[in-house]
Amino acid sequence: MTGPRSSAEHILLAERFCARNYLPLPVVLARGEGCFVWDVEGNRYLDGLSGYSALNQGHRHPRIVAALVEQAGRLTLTSRAFHNDRMGPFLSRLCALAGFPLALPMNTGVEAVETAVKAMRRWGYEQKGIPAGRAELVVVTGNFHGRTLLAISLSDDPSSYAGYEPQVPGIVRVPFGDAAALAAAVGPHTAGVLLEPVQGEAGVVIPPDDYLPRVREICTARRVALCLDEVQTGLGRTGRMFAWEHWDTRPDLVCLGKALSGGVYPISAVCGTEELLGVFTPGTHGSTYGGNPLAAAVGMAALDVLVEEELPQKAARLGRVALRRLHAELDGAPPVKEVRGLGLMLAVEYHRPVAHRLVERLAREAAVLCKDTRGTTIRFLPPLVTPEEELLQALDRMLPILALG
Ligand SMILES: *Cc1c(COP(=O)(O)O)cnc(C)c1O
Repeated sequence: MTGPRSSAEHILLAERFCARNYLPLPVVLARGEGCFVWDVEGNRYLDGLSGYSALNQGHRHPRIVAALVEQAGRLTLTSRAFHNDRMGPFLSRLCALAGFPLALPMNTGVEAVETAVKAMRRWGYEQKGIPAGRAELVVVTGNFHGRTLLAISLSDDPSSYAGYEPQVPGIVRVPFGDAAALAAAVGPHTAGVLLEPVQGEAGVVIPPDDYLPRVREICTARRVALCLDEVQTGLGRTGRMFAWEHWDTRPDLVCLGKALSGGVYPISAVCGTEELLGVFTPGTHGSTYGGNPLAAAVGMAALDVLVEEELPQKAARLGRVALRRLHAELDGAPPVKEVRGLGLMLAVEYHRPVAHRLVERLAREAAVLCKDTRGTTIRFLPPLVTPEEELLQALDRMLPILALG
């Protein structure tokens, strides 16, 4: 018996055996390099999703792959029951980059969020004096923090939470971008506020300029921890290393993931203050794979690439060029509601739910792989290493399709 060869055969096999929790485009990828991927038939596409911003450094960045291979030849897992010689150097690099004294390594983005929420609750009880079992967390509409029961309890998107009730209690949700509503929702039992500085899955929703500074003021004045989920926005995507830099708003905790490994391995972390991350004591939180030496070696290389190749600066420059083009060609096109972007985090929103049909056309006719979100919005998140010439050519192919809607 031979294995599947064509895209159609691969899709049949995957659809037969994989639970149906995604609706992938009918493209079967077999290779990637830099900003490009190839399907099993050898067709080349520009990757316009970058693994939801995990591949900021591009596919198979040679330096990250070399770190992976080198470390795989020495030591891959110790568990945190023992020290390893890679975690300390990685976390010291990460803390220096983020400007925090402590970090806690995990694996997936949602685990970083879980870790941050656990830290805020525990801080609320131990430091703020919230009565036992009463801690509240303030979150915002349109959020996406992952898929665990905690994360979907934060969500107001029925496709995330419906059928998985009961939800985790102690959650208060207020409109994103409305600082007055947030101030009104903060009470004596509020331990923390959690939000994305720019909402990714909601379709690249950018708050008003005074929002994050005001949220910071409210949290400081009311003694509430502020956690920013930068799993998608962090590590260069928005044109700064961290999106909070756009508004000069330093959180108490930041969740990182995705590009922390450049797309080769699941790595996440929470960075934070001594006051917040200091709440954990031996045995009160953990992860078998968190902080493993393979992850640490890969994470170190991924951070080195971001800094040394000046990828945040590159994202800012390419993003300006791309956003200008998108505005010039799509503003005023009847089906288009809005063009938005910050750095290389770009989106086109339509009046009608045409986004899934459009991403199919972009793949087939423009050789660009994008992802629709919430029915009406197309996100465009190319790797930050994309050469300007390739980006401009991709836009040339995409724009006629995007304009027609
Ligand atoms: C992707 C994402 C997560 C979840 O990350 P996983 O690695 O899929 O668990 C959390 N928060 C934000 C903002 C994200 O974009």
